[in-house]
Amino acid sequence: MGGNSPCASCKLLRRRCAKDCIFAPYFPSDDPHKFAIVHKVFGASNVSKMLQELPIHQRADAVSSLVYEANARVRDPVYGCVGAISYLQNQVSQLQMQLAVAQAEILCIQMQQEPALPTHSQMDQDERSLLLHSNLDSIPQYLNFTSYPSSNVIQDPLKRESLWT
Ligand SMILES: [Zn+2]
Repeated sequence: MGGNSPCASCKLLRRRCAKDCIFAPYFPSDDPHKFAIVHKVFGASNVSKMLQELPIHQRADAVSSLVYEANARVRDPVYGCVGAISYLQNQVSQLQMQLAVAQAEILCIQMQQEPALPTHSQMDQDERSLLLHSNLDSIPQYLNFTSYPSSNVIQDPLKRESLWT
């Protein structure tokens, strides 16, 4: 960064870019808009003061924060980046509400299914006993009727049979 090629800040401020120019590392001459917008919103001397108060390793982050805030302020002169923050916070709370509703619905469905299971199997058992009563020699037919895993199907009729005969 010699005096011949001033940084974007010094170019805009029409001053000689010193070797220790505080802006030079963060405002390269090929991106004049970056400094222009920060200068417009915060003022060059304020930006200089803010950077001087910070340790060197934090200055780059501070500059990108200032650029972001300046862009937001130009886009939204009333709320600046607070507008974006509150919009996103709104979205987060809306999504959290949707999530809570979906979780409540899942719970409802689970609770509807759980008490339904015993009555369903009760009906199945009644049908089974009816089938077993009416024709005990047609067990293969009954095996096809149920959709239980084969291990259950084999065990169950045997138990039933011993009960009913
Ligand atoms: Zn400079």
